[in-house]
Formats: sequence, C-alpha cells, structure tokens
Amino acid sequence: MILVDVHCHLDHAKFKGNLDMVIENARKAGVKAIITSGVNLKTNKIILDIAEKYNDIVKPSFGLYPIDALAAELEGDETAGFARDVEETKVEDVLEFIKKNKDKCVAIGECGLDYHWIKDKQEEMKDVFQKVIELVEKLKKPIIVHTRKAELDCVEMLESSSISPKKILLHCFGGNKKLIQRAAGNGWNFSIPPVIVRLQHFQMMAELVNISQLLTETDAPYLSPYPGKINEPAFVAETIKKIAEIKKITEEDTANNIYMNYKRLFE
Ligand SMILES: [Zn+2]
Repeated sequence: MILVDVHCHLDHAKFKGNLDMVIENARKAGVKAIITSGVNLKTNKIILDIAEKYNDIVKPSFGLYPIDALAAELEGDETAGFARDVEETKVEDVLEFIKKNKDKCVAIGECGLDYHWIKDKQEEMKDVFQKVIELVEKLKKPIIVHTRKAELDCVEMLESSSISPKKILLHCFGGNKKLIQRAAGNGWNFSIPPVIVRLQHFQMMAELVNISQLLTETDAPYLSPYPGKINEPAFVAETIKKIAEIKKITEEDTANNIYMNYKRLFE
C-alpha cells in the first residue's frame, strides 16, 4: 500500500535526535511522501534542510502560521504554550523567503486563521492571511490551510480568492457539517488525521466528503491516535483503515485513491 502524510511538523523539538527512526518507521509503513510544513521563517528554513536530507520522501511546504504572524504584537506572551520569536515572524520577511524559494516547495502553508488563541486581533489576522492568499494566487501553488474557531471567515476569504479549488487543502478542518458541505461543494480538499479513530467529527467528514477530495495527514507530533504516544507519519495507516471502514471499500482502494489525490494536488 502506498501512503502519504500531507501535513506534519518534522522540525518539532519532539523529533530532535530521532528523525532517522521516524522516517524509517514511515518507510516501513509504506509512506511514500511526507509534506512537512513550516510556520515561520525559522521553521521554513529548518524544514528545507530536512527535505534536502530525506529528499526521496520529505517535501517542504512553507508557511506563516496565524499566531506566529502576530507574534510582534504578542511579544512575551506564551500563546499556545509557544514562546514565539518576533524576529522569525516578520510577515514581509516570511513572504519574501517563500517567494525566493518557491521552486523548492510543494505548497504554501500552514497558514490561515485561528481565533482560538487570539480573540481580539481578528482583523489583523485576516490582513496577514489575505497577503498569503495573494502570494498563493501569484505562485499558483497548492495552499494548506489551518483554521480554528474561524472557519466561516476562512471559507469566505478563500471563496473570494482566485486560487484554483483543486489546489485548496483544509487540514484538520473543524467547521460544522454545513460548512464542510459548502467547502466540499467548492471542490476543495480535506486532510484527515489519525485521531479519526476516536473523533466523531472526522468520521462525519470522511462520510460526507467524496473520496476524490480526501487526503491523509498526521499533524505530527500533535494529534496522536494513541494517548501518551507522540504522533508520527507512519500513523497515517490508521486514517486509511478508518476511512476504508466508513466508505465500505478496501484499505488498498482507499490508499490508492488518496495517493491519486496527492499526485493531482501536489505534483
Ligand atoms: Zn500543523
């Protein structure tokens, strides 16, 4: 079976020192492609190095995470448990880096809107996301979108853009059933993490969305399907199993469909 993980964070401190093993585990599980996403200048540079080191399997996607994008205004505030580095998150610098290295990445992201951690800077956050959207329109790359407690604004901003619907990927989308149907109706894609094994929300998503618009991700090291265990790309196998069960097709067919979707979106 050919598997893909279209969204994770291999630069994360939790993988420090054991990346060789994590990549080896992924290979053994049948994973053929891992897209690792940066969230600011520093992590965009690190993931580029990682992708160069494991260039047969790891592909970089350069991002500007909504929380990082506002780091300058949150200086000293350990939002979401991260001490954000202001120097690494100047919006113009990140956009400039992405432009300069556009040929080295398979997508732009992770980017988007997050009102969960920052409630009072919604307009500022939308301004930053709009800049990223405009860059994606120019570069004609796929976009990997994060959104939390901001799903409607996010969907509306993407609908107003000229990004090809086929190039839009909503990762771990938390929107309700109506919003999932609206985004799916637009032709957008959804990536589902292995926590689908215990989260009804993603099971509902897998049921609603056509297999031709579904992808597998891990968001590793976050969102582990196994409590107490760090998530890693090999675990996409769990998502395949669950989607196969929901769609009532074989795991093989599920994996093949998702691999085709991956190729259509990112190659
Ligand atoms: Zn992520």
